[in-house]
Amino acid sequence: MRQPIDILKNIFGYTSFRPGQEEIISNILSGRDALGIMPTGAGKSLCYQIPAVLTDGTSIIISPLISLMKDQVDALRQNGVQAASINSSMEWDDVVSIFRLVSSGRIKLLYIAPERFENNGFREFFHSIEIGLVIVDEAHCVSQWGHDFRPSYLNIAPAIKSLKRRPVVAAFTATATPEVRDDIIRQLGLESPFSVTTGFDRENLFFQVEHPADKTKFLLDYVSKIPNASGIVYCSTRKQVESVCDKICRTGISAVRYHAGLDDDERLRNQEAFIYDKAGVMVATNAFGMGINKSNVRYVIHYNMPANMDSYYQEAGRAGRDGLPADCILLFGPKDVMTARFFISQCEDSGTKKSAYRKLRDMVDYCHTTGCLRSYILNYFGEEDAPGNCGSCGSCTSQTELVDVTTEAKKIISCVYRMAEHTGGRKFGSAVLTDVLRGSQKARIKSLGFDKISTWGLMKEYRVDDVRGIVDFLVAQGFLQTEAGEFPFLSFTENSLPFLKSRTKLLMRKQEEKAEKRPLQKNRHTETVNEELFDVLRSLRKELSAAEGVPPYIVFSDKTLAAMCDMLPSDKDGLLEVPGVGQAKLEKYGDAFIYAINSWRGDTARRH
Ligand code: ADP
Ligand code: MG
Repeated sequence: MRQPIDILKNIFGYTSFRPGQEEIISNILSGRDALGIMPTGAGKSLCYQIPAVLTDGTSIIISPLISLMKDQVDALRQNGVQAASINSSMEWDDVVSIFRLVSSGRIKLLYIAPERFENNGFREFFHSIEIGLVIVDEAHCVSQWGHDFRPSYLNIAPAIKSLKRRPVVAAFTATATPEVRDDIIRQLGLESPFSVTTGFDRENLFFQVEHPADKTKFLLDYVSKIPNASGIVYCSTRKQVESVCDKICRTGISAVRYHAGLDDDERLRNQEAFIYDKAGVMVATNAFGMGINKSNVRYVIHYNMPANMDSYYQEAGRAGRDGLPADCILLFGPKDVMTARFFISQCEDSGTKKSAYRKLRDMVDYCHTTGCLRSYILNYFGEEDAPGNCGSCGSCTSQTELVDVTTEAKKIISCVYRMAEHTGGRKFGSAVLTDVLRGSQKARIKSLGFDKISTWGLMKEYRVDDVRGIVDFLVAQGFLQTEAGEFPFLSFTENSLPFLKSRTKLLMRKQEEKAEKRPLQKNRHTETVNEELFDVLRSLRKELSAAEGVPPYIVFSDKTLAAMCDMLPSDKDGLLEVPGVGQAKLEKYGDAFIYAINSWRGDTARRH
């Protein structure tokens, strides 16, 4: 019998399994239900594709989005695996012809949307075929607790129950919260599933927070340093999307836009242009990204701070699915906090509102922490053994000076104390606090009598943003807190008084005035790779993919191209050694890539 490792090598062209994959595969093959909770890009698909190839009959894969199904089917076919999908955009005739292929045993993996189970014709068909496995991808959609609840996912369990012989059922998701996990097991009726949860870290992602005085300049500098790379820029409003997209286009780099205000046609066209590498940069609101599996996204820049860490990690996580280094950069500006607060204040339900404000505070803290950003993220998602110093985030690699802000911090905290004292315990936000510290003569300040308190004007010589920056920093460090309400009133924490009395020094990363002072992240994957050859192979890939009608990353991932540049295979045997090159792709594309590599080698030899 063929073994999973043979399938991994011959069909998918990879040499070894990633964490969790082998265990899940062998459990499914031994007849046990399974639940895989692994982050984006961890390789969940292979966990069920390999068992599906090795199991008799047709395996049914339930997936929530047409684009995801299409992507997977394209990728499987490229690797010579018989796969198809049935979705709502198809004519009934086409559906029937797929039924026919399945019935004659010519489809190993059939991707369907959960709504299919509501259709009589499909249900009949479902009962008439030999089913291998039933796989539920993006299984968090079955849970009300998740962010993408899909009622039709509730059809899955009854459909499985109605079968004469119950197949093995396996479910996969990247959402790790216990409520969602329990829901998946219950709602899908998994029977004592073998369950694997791998860590949430994405090692190849470099996290960075910038506080640029001029965001546009920072962005354009960054983007134009790696003009050939594919990237996503997220903005919080449609207007911002339009203006940022225009600015990038004006530098000569092709960017496209995506937001809910555009008509379907343009959205689809722009999305395709991005996926097919015709446009390098996608500028979008958070409406973009669900169901996008493009693996060669080299950076995700947030032009505005998102409303919470959950959204941030999900959006930033769209970078580097192929496992190559990718950057996740957040451009923080004080206005972003106001925008986020405004959106939350529009919300009706007070419970939701409160938790939204709390989540916003965690997000703002991320933007101000001087600690390891990766650890902050992992802690947020409940991983207790985060490293503390990852060595590959903006904080851990920062060369920026740390400045001693002990005196300023004490002035600020004392001022919060004096203001409360003077008004019988009232609390104020950082705008009023900053006014008092800078000795403002505003009527409101005077009417509150704050021009009489001892801390008035203590920080006269500081700029508003500098004071605010230190206040935010103190909140991030837990020396002050803001209430989780519409108005972020400042108050003490249990650390405030001890700090005022202590002699400990407080160091804060220096705020940059100009973006260009800071060294930009390089496109790090090209450090080890020959960039010239990489570009040659990238164009070849694009040409071949256009002829095949699939996105370039489906032909070969960036990682596979990079490996070709490192290994410089000169014949088919050599090419087969490259990760990501399996038998089917070797036959299809082998000659073209070997020819390209060999002629590039010949050219460079002649030049030297
Ligand atoms: P997920 O569904 O978990 O987000 P995917 O299944 O889409 O992730 O896999 C992400 C990428 O990792 C794909 O390009 C896939 O081919 C690759 N991959 C998966 N398993 C392996 C492996 N064992 N070795 C090398 N690459 C792998
Ligand atoms: Mg997936």
